[in-house]
Amino acid sequence: MTTRRQFIQIVPIAGAAFVVGCSDKAAEAPKPVASAAPDTPPPAPAPVAAAPSPVASPAPSTATNSSALPMLDEKDATAVALGYVPNATKADAAKYKTYTAGQQCSGCQLFQGQAGAAAGPCSLFAGKQVNAQGWCSAFAKKAA
Ligand code: SF4
Repeated sequence: MTTRRQFIQIVPIAGAAFVVGCSDKAAEAPKPVASAAPDTPPPAPAPVAAAPSPVASPAPSTATNSSALPMLDEKDATAVALGYVPNATKADAAKYKTYTAGQQCSGCQLFQGQAGAAAGPCSLFAGKQVNAQGWCSAFAKKAA
C-alpha cells in the first residue's frame, strides 16, 4: 500500500505529466487547421482562361507598323555605300559586277515585306522601307 510520503512524491510528477500531455495535444491541434489551408489553391485555373485574349491582338499592329515606316533615301550614307537604287534597272552594273538583270529587293532574303507589296522593311536598313523593285550590292537571292 502507498504511504502518505509516496503519495506526496507521486502527485507532482503526475501533475507535470498531465500538463505536458495537454500541451502536446494543444500543439498538435493547429496542424489540422494548417493542413486545411493548402487545400485552397484550386482557384488557379482562372488566370489560364484569361491568357488567350491578349495574344490575339498584337498581329495586326505589326503589319501596320512596317507599312508606316519611311522610305529609304538613296542618298543615305549606308544606301550609297551599298549602291542602293529604288529601281534595280538603274543599278550600276559596271561598278557592281554581282548585279544581274532580274535581281530586285522583292527577291532578296533580307526583304521583309509581304509578297506583292510595293515596299517593305529590309534588315540592313532598320526603321526604313526599301522599294520592292530596288536593289543594292548586298542582294542575296531568296531560297526557292
Ligand atoms: Fe534590297 Fe536586299 Fe539590298 Fe535590302 S539587302 S536593299 S532587300 S537588295
